[in-house]
Amino acid sequence: MNVLQSQQPFDATNAQHLDRGAGYIAPDCAGQNFYAIDRGLRDLLKLYLAPDDFQRLEPHFDRLGALAGGRLDELARAADKHPPVLNARDRFGRDEDWIDYHSSYREMEQIAFGDFQFHAMSHRGGALGMDRPLPAVAKYALQYLFVQAEFGLMCPISVTDTSIHLIRKFASPELQEYLLPKMLSGDVATMWKGTQFMTERAGGSDVGAIETVAHREDGAWRLTGDKWFCSHADADVALLLARPDGAPSGTGGLALFALPRRLKDGRRNAYRIVRLKDKLGTRSMASGEIKLEGAVAYLVGEADRGLKQMMEQVNLSRLSHGVRAAAMMRRCVNEAMACARTRKAFDKTIIEFPLLRRQLLKITIPTEQALSMFLFAASAMDRANAGSKDAQDLLRILTPLLKFRACRDNIPVATGSMEVRGGNGYIEEWVQARLVRDAHIGVLWEGTSNINALDIITRAVGKSRAHRSLGTALATLLDEASSIPPAFRARLRETLERTLDFAERVAAEPALEADARRAASGLYHITSSILMTSETSRPGTDTRRALYARFVLEHRLSVQDPLEPEVSDWEGEAANIIFSERTATIADVAKLLEH
Ligand SMILES: Cc1cc2nc3c(=O)[nH]c(=O)nc-3n(C[C@H](O)[C@H](O)[C@H](O)COP(=O)(O)OP(=O)(O)OC[C@H]3O[C@@H](n4cnc5c(N)ncnc54)[C@H](O)[C@@H]3O)c2cc1C
Repeated sequence: MNVLQSQQPFDATNAQHLDRGAGYIAPDCAGQNFYAIDRGLRDLLKLYLAPDDFQRLEPHFDRLGALAGGRLDELARAADKHPPVLNARDRFGRDEDWIDYHSSYREMEQIAFGDFQFHAMSHRGGALGMDRPLPAVAKYALQYLFVQAEFGLMCPISVTDTSIHLIRKFASPELQEYLLPKMLSGDVATMWKGTQFMTERAGGSDVGAIETVAHREDGAWRLTGDKWFCSHADADVALLLARPDGAPSGTGGLALFALPRRLKDGRRNAYRIVRLKDKLGTRSMASGEIKLEGAVAYLVGEADRGLKQMMEQVNLSRLSHGVRAAAMMRRCVNEAMACARTRKAFDKTIIEFPLLRRQLLKITIPTEQALSMFLFAASAMDRANAGSKDAQDLLRILTPLLKFRACRDNIPVATGSMEVRGGNGYIEEWVQARLVRDAHIGVLWEGTSNINALDIITRAVGKSRAHRSLGTALATLLDEASSIPPAFRARLRETLERTLDFAERVAAEPALEADARRAASGLYHITSSILMTSETSRPGTDTRRALYARFVLEHRLSVQDPLEPEVSDWEGEAANIIFSERTATIADVAKLLEH
């Protein structure tokens, strides 16, 4: 029996059927269209996509928004409750390891790889009726909608997409010819999905310590070693790092290989999934341990540039992780608002309580920051792909900034949203419990917070000087935002200069390494604050974004005295505007920026 049939029946309008008398429990977001209710996303897509692309793609955003609040959400709930199971042997006693997935996971794969073709949409035409690859802005907006329902499967989706990128860029023509038609296929039954195995027991952050070796034998490379964290463990082709015979120690001696699960004659390649991890979150997706026992692999690109090449995949994944954090935070906000607007306590609706409003602001503002940041980064990627050097610099620094800060913010946002729902938020029938569990992986995957902060400060600022390109881009946006009061723009400009100087000092003085996270956070906050200010100044955009910008400026970039009252008049009025249903004019908002 399909286990979905035994789930609580899905009712898209459950909120309307609930008895609002004594014992009323506030509804969740089931049945909502996550695109239609996301004013910020809808506004910003019009800013960042060419009008033609927006028109062609909007029906797909809308369709995915409806799926994310509907069928996909139901499938995600079931897949989380029925995690994958590893089989080590078949009934004949052969070591034919394979993983069984629940039917809900398979249906989600069909939506992602078959219907939307997330994995291929950046690399060829044909996805969503487009005659060319989709812009990065559109791809990440679609990821953002998808992840509001299902987080676990986005790992296989994204890592297939990024593996295709690496193979297209670095693999020999023969290897491309062998792998790409299978990986770019939209036929879920036969396509080859990708993954990336880097981490070993000896080295996660310290990649140079990995111990897997590659021997040349009869004209083929054979890998031996142990990969300790392997998400999407049964992927059809994995990209991984190994040290060829005689190569030097450290990262300089690592080469990049493509490891197929099946050999050309159909036999299993010589590696085993030893066991699956029993994880806190991302439970729908299989992460395992892999033992390489002389497995055949193909060298990708130059043997002494393995890590450099793989960092391209890491950076693409980091951007996607930032998007996923933004998505999960949005789901948290939607859930919290659905509850706060209807739950009653002490004869009031709980959104009326000043402390609860403050809690809602604390989850809303990081969510809006992450939205602006990922769309700005994605648009830089589109311009970088078109050849802009400035955009390459922007992307260089925006990627780890987004990964570092959005993934960290996701954790308190998820907890805050759970708390808004009260005790029910802790119960696994409601989505908040899963959101809390899933939120934590973002600070580990593709580098911990420390590793990303060091990348920002030591390399992006210290070596690449990418912060200066960022500073120039932000200063230009401020100059152009003429409908925003000059005094507020001047404060932002001055804070921008101070933040850039601080980041430079920390990068230049090894004794200040412990300040790297503070400096990186400062860069994230000033960037998002200026972006939201600039967005507000563009016609048709929700003016509340400038209020979010001011909250960031006051609470993240200014000195606060913990023994003085914090809530000033402007904050109360700003909260009224933010939580009211009516649209505020630029004049209403401008008053609150000058206060
Ligand atoms: C569920 C799950 C799935 C995963 N899937 C994959 C996968 O598919 N492929 C893959 O390659 N990896 C995967 N990983 C591994 C993940 O990327 C690593 O766990 C992560 O990079 C951290 O490495 P580590 O566990 O070895 O921790 P360590 O590197 O030992 O770090 C321990 C602590 O030391 C800190 N630290 C290390 N160096 C420094 C420094 N220079 N300065 C300051 N602090 C430092 C870290 O920030 C961290 O807090 C997965 C992990 C998990 C939990």
